[in-house]
Amino acid sequence: MQNKEPRSLIPNYVIHALIAGILFLLAATILGLLLFAKSPAEAPAPVQSAPPTASAPAAELETPQDERPILMLDAGHGGRDPGAVSDYAEETEAEICQTIMERLLELLQPHAAELQVEVSREADTYATTRQRARAARTLGADFFLSLHLNANEEPQAQGFQVYPVPPGRPQHANSLRFAEILVRQVKETGVAIQGSNGIFYNYYHEMANGNTWQQQQDSAEADPDEYSDSPTFGVLENCGCPGVLVEQWFISSITDLRRFNNTNGYNAMAQCLYRSICEYFELEEKK
Ligand SMILES: [Zn+2]
Repeated sequence: MQNKEPRSLIPNYVIHALIAGILFLLAATILGLLLFAKSPAEAPAPVQSAPPTASAPAAELETPQDERPILMLDAGHGGRDPGAVSDYAEETEAEICQTIMERLLELLQPHAAELQVEVSREADTYATTRQRARAARTLGADFFLSLHLNANEEPQAQGFQVYPVPPGRPQHANSLRFAEILVRQVKETGVAIQGSNGIFYNYYHEMANGNTWQQQQDSAEADPDEYSDSPTFGVLENCGCPGVLVEQWFISSITDLRRFNNTNGYNAMAQCLYRSICEYFELEEKK
């Protein structure tokens, strides 16, 4: 035999055993690597919202966007906060404003297709001025209308006031436009108009504690140095849209109460507000 292999010094069975051992180690290593690599994948995947589907149903795409302007009505006070009270009136400021707002909602109902009307709080509940303003901002309201009654220790104080967002603020122009329309409407009821033209301004400065608003009243008739920590007018500062706060009449005035503190008076003021809203939003009056 020419090609006879030279006899090895190591017996064949030892070599076979070594090869088998190496193969076993290799197999074990590969198996181990596979298991190691697999385990992280078995961990629960982080929760994710479903990705938006690439193909939304056709009907959904064709739904027209709601482009109605949004009016936010704010009946002042409410719940644990009655607002102003009077020896001469059975109802509180909060109750009267709620009644007038409900009448206004009825008048606006026929315009539902062209104007979205929302309220800043549930009936008979309290909301802070910040919550009311946030409700308007969250909805992207186009106008904020806050209803109040005035009160004064002097019983002869009487008449109507409207507070638009003041000069220097981004929403001033349209706020003033609404205020001027409303004064014109209210004058027709015969109620006294306070000050030179019924329009008053309040400026606000947030205090360091972030909770209190400082109010500076400044108009033709008001004292610019008069300060108060009443947060009431903070709605205009924070609602993010044009708006007015209306002091409809004095709950402390016998003259005002005679004229307004009855169903006819409530309806008359609701009509003034309704007509002003129609003119501002260019809606055709229906009632
Ligand atoms: Zn009030």
